[in-house]
Amino acid sequence: MTDSRPADERAAELADLAAKVSGCTACRLAETRTNVVFGSGNPDADVIFVGEGPGQQEDEQGLPFVGRSGQLLEQLLGEIGLTRDDVYIGNVVKCRPPKNRDPRPDEIDACKGYLRTQLELIQPKVAVTLGNFASKLLLRTDTGITRLRGNAYEWWGRLLVPTYHPAAALRGSARVLDEMREDFRTIEAIIAGKLTRRPPQPAAEPERPEPDPQQLDLFN
Ligand code: URA
Ligand code: SF4
Repeated sequence: MTDSRPADERAAELADLAAKVSGCTACRLAETRTNVVFGSGNPDADVIFVGEGPGQQEDEQGLPFVGRSGQLLEQLLGEIGLTRDDVYIGNVVKCRPPKNRDPRPDEIDACKGYLRTQLELIQPKVAVTLGNFASKLLLRTDTGITRLRGNAYEWWGRLLVPTYHPAAALRGSARVLDEMREDFRTIEAIIAGKLTRRPPQPAAEPERPEPDPQQLDLFN
């Protein structure tokens, strides 16, 4: 999934895709959403954050992570010298599931091509999954976030760093926030080119084998 075109051409295509997806009706979430939340940030970012799906404020504003979780995400970014405009922020599904329920398999199937294209066009060095749902889905594992985090995984020719959802740090213990800080230092090291492959300490491996690259399917 390498796209050798210059960044401005890839950015223009990403903007075209965002415009197209703003009217998407490919799954039932279209019926209850206010706005599609395609994603936002630097179209040539080194890091893409992937949440689960828009919440209420995101649905109202059409932007990802604009509520309290987003404030914490911005704070953690600031601690490694980044703003939300330096990175790209998106979600597994682009429309808010009613009452913030988990996205269903058919909704994920309908939407996943957009995330795949976002990755192909942005070409980040590292993808960061926020929370259990996105982490388990993209790493295709049943292992929970508590065991997955603290590591970087080879994933589709780049690294994937799973960490907690900021909402978990907001309602959880100081330890959760400390561990998120640790994960953000890993992200910082990857961006700085100081960590280019999976570090040696074995944590939990994704339980399913690497996908067949021909299959071109990010999850499942
Ligand atoms: N939680 C998510 O998973 N995504 C958002 O965009 C906001 C909150
Ligand atoms: Fe389309 Fe994705 Fe929204 Fe479903 S969730 S309507 S597939 S943009």
